[in-house]
Amino acid sequence: MLRTSLLAAARSPWARNVVERNPLSQPVVNRFVAGALTPDAVSATRSLVESGRAVTIDYLGEDTTEVADAKHTVEAYSSLLSALSEQGLAAGADVSVKLSAVGQALPGDGHKIALDNARLIAEAASAVGATLTLDMEDHTTTDSTLEILSELRVDFPWVGAVLQAYLYRTEADARDLASAGSRVRLCKGAYREPDSVAYQDKSEVDRNYVRVLRILMQGDGYPMVASHDPRIIAIAGELGAGRDFEYQMLYGIRPGEQETIARRGDKMRVYVPYGVQWYGYFMRRLAERPANLAFFLRALATR
Ligand code: FAD
Repeated sequence: MLRTSLLAAARSPWARNVVERNPLSQPVVNRFVAGALTPDAVSATRSLVESGRAVTIDYLGEDTTEVADAKHTVEAYSSLLSALSEQGLAAGADVSVKLSAVGQALPGDGHKIALDNARLIAEAASAVGATLTLDMEDHTTTDSTLEILSELRVDFPWVGAVLQAYLYRTEADARDLASAGSRVRLCKGAYREPDSVAYQDKSEVDRNYVRVLRILMQGDGYPMVASHDPRIIAIAGELGAGRDFEYQMLYGIRPGEQETIARRGDKMRVYVPYGVQWYGYFMRRLAERPANLAFFLRALATR
């Protein structure tokens, strides 16, 4: 119920206005977001890399309704990749892109605009030795996102995809994607979805996660296990023993566990969001965990 309300608020312009304009939000947002500007993302990357963790960086923004905003997002990724390269941090880095931030949601030829823009980002990543992963948004975008993935992979076979364990379709998508060279991030899923397309019960989502993870680990692709859930992490360790895969977690969430995983020699990649459009991302983090919401409310109350 709380999750549903917070996810509804994540898409409400009214709630956005209230939360964004409240100056007291910022200290809590800073726990989950690396900063507003490119140098903030570069500096977060440097400290993560120095502690043995890799990064995937997200320039925050989604549901773009203007072609110019989509273009701005492409330029932001391009500057970021150049800055990482200048600082010797680009090789091995990944950028995470939401296709709705580069035009997918535009009426008419949104799909084509998003493909062209994602291609520009893939070219910029390729030029500095970085990779690109296409984030997955709500289920109305899944087909378009997987089509764009397959078109990009013709020229950039290392472009990665995200699958969401809460969707019924994901088991079949995982079988399609578990092939050589295919980078697949598996997460539980962060959007509000109807029961016509998605499991609603947390234990069913978790069971499907493990089913899909097994498919990915038995396939020939490169699984990326995106979860903070200790049970999932333990199961991934068992299923992935002796094969190449990586763990992924979000910036600011379970940093101690991130370091433990990296220290024991397993690959750990941290998803680093930055930029001023933090609202949707932030609300999804609150929806995931009541303790995050309590932390936010406590911070507001004590200031
Ligand atoms: P949950 O069921 O939320 O949590 C399980 C357990 O993890 C908790 O019970 C607790 O033990 C532990 N835990 C969780 N949070 C905390 C915390 N703050 N502190 C301490 N312990 C905690 N979703 C999408 O829909 N599309 C995407 O493209 C996408 N990309 C992602 C990329 C990465 C790298 C990650 C990590 C997540 C991504 N997500 C994405 C979000 C994902 O779908 C989930 O909403 C989110 O990760 C929460 O699920 P969970 O697996 O961590 O488990």
